[in-house]
Amino acid sequence: MLRQIEIKALLPRIEISLSQIRHNAQMLSEHYGRKGISLMGVSKATLGDPEIAKAMIQGGVKFIADSRIENIQKMRIAGISTQIVLLRTAFSQAEAVIKNVDISLNTELETVRELSNFAKIHNTLHQIIVMVEMGDLREGILPCDLPQFIKKTIDLPNIKVIGIGCNLACYGGVKPDNHNMYQLSELADALEKEFRIHLEIISGGNSANYEWSEAAQAVGRINNLRLGESILLGCETVNRKAIPGLYTSAFKLIAEVIESKEKPSLPFGEICQNAFGNVPTFLDRGIRRRIIIALGRQDILVSGLKPNKALEILGSSSDHVVLDSNNYDCQVGSEVEFNLDYGGLLSAMTSPFIAKQVIGNNH
Ligand SMILES: *Cc1c(COP(=O)(O)O)cnc(C)c1O
Repeated sequence: MLRQIEIKALLPRIEISLSQIRHNAQMLSEHYGRKGISLMGVSKATLGDPEIAKAMIQGGVKFIADSRIENIQKMRIAGISTQIVLLRTAFSQAEAVIKNVDISLNTELETVRELSNFAKIHNTLHQIIVMVEMGDLREGILPCDLPQFIKKTIDLPNIKVIGIGCNLACYGGVKPDNHNMYQLSELADALEKEFRIHLEIISGGNSANYEWSEAAQAVGRINNLRLGESILLGCETVNRKAIPGLYTSAFKLIAEVIESKEKPSLPFGEICQNAFGNVPTFLDRGIRRRIIIALGRQDILVSGLKPNKALEILGSSSDHVVLDSNNYDCQVGSEVEFNLDYGGLLSAMTSPFIAKQVIGNNH
């Protein structure tokens, strides 16, 4: 006989509101759609969760994009048949890319050749978007090397160059603006003319492109963006401001209070290094009610936790986060709730100790 273990609620857990994600995807699809810009819903922060991808699709995104082939395989197995885009292409994964992905972003000739080889073997046509370096210094081909790259790729068997794109505000923190977006448009025009091809997708960036799109009189040739954070957390990423009309707490992290006591705010005894090799300093605020939650650095990027109400994070170790409860009475066994920023979301979704609970359904 099975022994039943009663679990009141899974803790810690992340609660995911599908209806809020669907709403955000819909508002953004309409907003950008009015400017002629289609969307790729980026699923990587959710590890390619198929339910979340479906909510994005129902909201109107035209493509799903992810950086990891494993996440894409998971979505394919779950029956997602929307066009899927791979954001980061590795040479060694070329065959899996051909089998699972419709479109991949590329910057290396060797890799595109390998994709071509496997596309030929599997008798399919693989589409690529060529990424251009516009100053942020993550992935991209320098504009001066672009014609040569296109020349060498357009005639590769079973490969079709369907567009160009760029990525900003990720590594170098370079802002998408009229200047670099105009440059990308110009490059598209020039390549089409030189090689007599049509580039159907000009993918101008990510969640950092919101401000540019709001301010721009005309978006030029830019007709696509790849959005993760804007859809999931409802904000743009240049100033991390909430986008009007979007939900900013579709993801909530809930953890359990395991200690709640009044204690002095200054440690006593001789101070040495803490568990992470720092010598901490403290402010004396007298006796305070402090709580500890069953969550730590092994689970989450603690700086990515945004406490609600009066709680204030004082510090953390591998398995504990210590908070000042502002003298509110937080009982042992009770739950505390946090909003998450992107780093918090990414780490929480990746932690095997945090349960993922989807609220709502896809109908
Ligand atoms: C992660 C990623 C995105 C999505 O970025 P957000 O800031 O979450 O919108 C877009 N493009 C590429 C290439 C990415 O790797």
